[in-house]
Amino acid sequence: MIYINSFEEAKTDRIIKEVMGRHEVLEWNGAAGLVDFRTKKPLIKDRSLVAALDLLRKDKELDEKKLILKDISGYLEDSDKQVIALLKSMAIEISQELDANIIIVSSKVVIPRELEKFVTVLENDYPDQNEIKKLVQGFAEEQGETINDELIEAMSMAFKGLTEFEIIDLLNLALANEGRFTRGSLSLIFDQKQQMIKKSGILEMIPLKEKAEDIGGLENLKEWLKRKSRVFKSINKAAAFGVDMPKGVLIAGVPGCGKSLTAKVTAQLFEVPLLRLDMGKIMGKYVGESEENMRRSIALAETIAPCVLWIDELEKAFAGINGSGSEVTVRLFGQFLTWMQEKTSPTFVIATANDITKLPPELMRKGRFDEIFFVGLPNSNERQKIFEIHIKKRRPNDLNNIRIYELVNKTEGYSGADIEGVVRDAIENTFSDGEPALTTEYILSAINETHSLSEIMKESLDKLSEEYKNRKFKNASEG
Ligand code: ATP
Repeated sequence: MIYINSFEEAKTDRIIKEVMGRHEVLEWNGAAGLVDFRTKKPLIKDRSLVAALDLLRKDKELDEKKLILKDISGYLEDSDKQVIALLKSMAIEISQELDANIIIVSSKVVIPRELEKFVTVLENDYPDQNEIKKLVQGFAEEQGETINDELIEAMSMAFKGLTEFEIIDLLNLALANEGRFTRGSLSLIFDQKQQMIKKSGILEMIPLKEKAEDIGGLENLKEWLKRKSRVFKSINKAAAFGVDMPKGVLIAGVPGCGKSLTAKVTAQLFEVPLLRLDMGKIMGKYVGESEENMRRSIALAETIAPCVLWIDELEKAFAGINGSGSEVTVRLFGQFLTWMQEKTSPTFVIATANDITKLPPELMRKGRFDEIFFVGLPNSNERQKIFEIHIKKRRPNDLNNIRIYELVNKTEGYSGADIEGVVRDAIENTFSDGEPALTTEYILSAINETHSLSEIMKESLDKLSEEYKNRKFKNASEG
């Protein structure tokens, strides 16, 4: 049994026709029932799937034939016992004595456990840049339109990661909107892609508000990112100069110390959109579904490229790979590593993780990420900056009256998020008490009432810092 995962029935039909040669091919689809694949003529009166399978199962009816099944994912999804049992018995017969194939064509991969070992999943790949060019040219010719080379080139980049069907759909839309193809068509393509990202439910487009100045400290990391941004912003020039495409960075370390903040700032520095990949939502119920989600997400991110793809809490997705990891997790991990290794698109990956000890070592090998940084608890210089940033954000006029050095001395072991919390609480208390301005005393009292991160998780923090030192990761902070 072959399961072709594709949105594009027409394209799949074309391919099947090419490879089937003179074989007799039958098709079942929800609208017409059992038909001849080539002529689409109905073969039996009863249009139900069960009737068709029943007929073909008897007397080796399927021998020397191919059966294409369309519109059946609903039956599989609902675990229709009769359909699954019929398919299973046919699969067993094929494996034992028949020369036949069953080919399921569906935009969704749903394979019930009972059929798992009989099924091979094939992906109908997205067209590559050359294929896209041909598609666009063909479409323009059909419509009697001309598109200049530069626009075709830009479109062939912009359409990457979309299916043939989606591309034609967008070309139609662009033409209907503007009457001809212009550079404006490109922004339409971009808008549509944003829609697709929303619909995917796995990727999220994150709005960018934070700037590099909003991060207190992490100077080494910021400097490294600024250098990469120079490459990323003039990628064509850099490539012509012989510079490799930046791949990405892994930022590991203590919670609440600015990893997520850095992801947002990076997209801002690179002047590209930020996509967040929710690993929790990747995991699907059915065989192959998680892999398909991953493939789709990567393809979608590549359509938005240049972009920053942020994978949060990486360890949650790939924890236990070396021990108790399920088969699916291992496969997903392999898929991700291969992509990281081979990717040539301007998709800069920022992976963030709290606990690096749970991550598989393959991930840390050279060639996957350009660099690995660890972010520790902020040192005194950094705490000073973090206080300044958060006081300035909310009470800019009070900043000069605050004795920051006193606060810095009292907050050893506090994370950036702790410090932000302290400032927030102090301001709220000041307001509640009816005081006109924020004072050092209010902040000191909020500090006294806050348990710092290192107080709460001292042991695991010590263990983590030791681990980072041993592995010689780069320190995100200066000094
Ligand atoms: P987690 O692992 O829990 O997701 P994180 O390291 O990603 O943590 P962030 O979400 O970046 O932490 O930090 C939480 C909040 O704390 C930030 O939104 C920011 O307001 C504040 N913060 C943390 N670190 C810094 C910093 N270095 N400079 C300024 N603000 C900071």
